[in-house]
Amino acid sequence: MSDCLFCKIIAGEIPGTFVYQDDQVVVLQDINPQAPMHLLVIPRKHVASLNELAPDDDALVGSMFRRAAALAKEHGYGQRGYRAVFNTNREAGQTVFHIHLHVLAGRSLTWPPG
Ligand code: AMP
Ligand code: ZN
Repeated sequence: MSDCLFCKIIAGEIPGTFVYQDDQVVVLQDINPQAPMHLLVIPRKHVASLNELAPDDDALVGSMFRRAAALAKEHGYGQRGYRAVFNTNREAGQTVFHIHLHVLAGRSLTWPPG
């Protein structure tokens, strides 16, 4: 999508700090980290929010969660703990309308989130 920030980063038109890439997803360092580890698992396919997911995307979303777990373990947070979360629309604080799985770790994360 031409006016989407994450599509532009994936296309190399805007810089981003990539920590992982494969044919389906990329993983970026969040530009405004909210924890010592704050990564974004982003599908190459543009999907605006969870509301637009289709049955054909089930495997993609599963692979995003499995990638989140792999990264958390790689960074040493598998046992300590981490949070993997999608924000959807205004009241959840979604600001970029291309789905992305936040992966946060490295401090005690409060519950419920604010
Ligand atoms: P959300 O508010 O759930 O839509 O999350 C969007 C996330 O993207 C926020 O945590 C932002 O800090 C992050 N973000 C915005 N611009 C960039 C960028 N250029 N590179 C990496 N992360 C970004
Ligand atoms: Zn996009």
